[in-house]
Amino acid sequence: MSRQFDVVVIGSGPAGYVAAIRCAQLGFNTACVEKWLSDSNKPVYGGTCLNVGCIPSKALLDTSHKFYEMQRHFADHGISAEQGSIDVAAMMGRKNKVVEQLTKGVAGLFRSNKVTGISGAGALLGKGRVRVTSADGSEEELSAATVILASGSEPSTIPPTPIDHELIVDSTGALEFDAVPERLGVIGAGVIGLELGSVWSRLGSQVTILEALDDFLPALDRQMARESLKILSRQGLDIKLGAKVTGSRTSKGKKKTVTVSYESGEGAGEAVFDKLIVAVGRRPVSDGLADPAAGLAIDERGFVEVDEYCATNIPGVYAVGDLVRGPMLAHKGMEEGVMVAERLKGKKTQVNYELVPSVIYTHPEIAWAGKNEDELKQAGVEYSTGSFSFAASGRALAANDTDGLVKLTVEKATDRIAGCQVIGASAADLLQQIVIAMEFGASAEDIALTMFPHPALSEVVHESALAVHGHAIHKANRKR
Ligand code: FAD
Ligand code: NAD
Repeated sequence: MSRQFDVVVIGSGPAGYVAAIRCAQLGFNTACVEKWLSDSNKPVYGGTCLNVGCIPSKALLDTSHKFYEMQRHFADHGISAEQGSIDVAAMMGRKNKVVEQLTKGVAGLFRSNKVTGISGAGALLGKGRVRVTSADGSEEELSAATVILASGSEPSTIPPTPIDHELIVDSTGALEFDAVPERLGVIGAGVIGLELGSVWSRLGSQVTILEALDDFLPALDRQMARESLKILSRQGLDIKLGAKVTGSRTSKGKKKTVTVSYESGEGAGEAVFDKLIVAVGRRPVSDGLADPAAGLAIDERGFVEVDEYCATNIPGVYAVGDLVRGPMLAHKGMEEGVMVAERLKGKKTQVNYELVPSVIYTHPEIAWAGKNEDELKQAGVEYSTGSFSFAASGRALAANDTDGLVKLTVEKATDRIAGCQVIGASAADLLQQIVIAMEFGASAEDIALTMFPHPALSEVVHESALAVHGHAIHKANRKR
């Protein structure tokens, strides 16, 4: 006999576990099926985000930032420290502890919310029917009025650089190096390339990033992209734009190396590395997720097709997170999970896909949301901008952390804030002030008339709003 639930969620990443918890909070008898196993064969919840994504990468970013600060900036404060050294095993141990605490935390949340965790690979058999195959091969069928698919994504690969898990690794392998590589190659100057490239560069690797596109960070406007490139290059990242990788060969003799060949504007080139990270995007995990007889609509790139409320073409079946269209970001999936759960209860919850914040956790952080100058120009919307640099912030100067700026775009006709881009320390948190304001339809004047604490980095947000109308206090304003 099959076990019966109100809701079965497949996948316990941020989209799946949040959907499961919210469903349970709303009174649905909920199960969450997860295939991830620990070395000791115990189910591990939290998906890519907690295990091999957001959290471990930030743990390494934070350790490497402290190391870099000690080596490069402590002396500016008059602190003399020994040159210092990094114990990679200890750094990894700390990272693993953080991961374990959080993944066990999800298991605890499942218990306290009475979500039934089920270990195994789930497959949709049809409306309301899920088959779970355990690691030992045994099968169980579950039935539920609602099925939520949240199987997430995995690293994409490219033919010239097949992952060998030794010299050529994906993002997961790049979180596990046992020593600092002397020469590190990275393919892709996207979010992962810049974050993980920064980690190892700060710890001493000579990092070269090969990016196929001529444009750096195309999601930013050109001024902000140029500024980011300048800062990151100054930190030591050698970012080669317009470099198309054509092949690779590994030498696994005494000195293990990987040689990458590429074509760029300067002709054909070759580079030799001790490790190579391939970070060229991620693809949805939809193979085997549904029995073909179920008729689940999946597009040619592997994304499950959904409407704005994450409903698939099968009644009672929803899909959320990296498995569906939109940015592959943990918070986007979490909001979709909440939306699906609440709509099952008859609420009118929606996700505002126009306002998904993005952050690259380099230092300074690079964060953006809404429409930038280039996008407003393309849409033919008349706009103003206001910007302010951290170099003119007392708090940033006191902290010796003055790189970057805040830039607001504002619709001319209404003074409504259309977008915000921040390069700077704590950019994620500063950006969020504007995202909240934008959710309430705030104008630049609303921000300008708000009192900000002094001295605080958030004053840069305030000044950028004042600058929209030429009223910034701590800089010479442009004539308007
Ligand atoms: P996932 O987290 O991928 O989880 C899917 C889960 O489903 C997995 O546990 C998987 O085992 C399970 N599963 C798959 N198929 C089945 C099946 N058939 N049966 C049972 N279980 C199954 N995003 C951010 O917002 N901020 C960041 O700072 C950030 N940093 C990142 C850093 C790195 C290095 C990487 C790789 C990603 C990062 N991301 C970040 C992206 C973020 O991790 C993903 O957007 C997020 O994890 C997607 O959530 P999800 O729940 O859709 O899928
Ligand atoms: P990405 O899409 O951010 O960047 C991939 C880069 O690789 C692009 O710039 C692309 O032009 C380049 N590229 C693709 N093929 C190439 C080739 N053959 N040669 C050279 N360059 C090539 O993808 P990612 O960095 O792999 O990250 C994957 C996903 O994970 C992203 O969608 C991102 O949203 C998510 N993520 C988010 C965060 C965060 O929010 N801080 C951190 C890490 C990952």
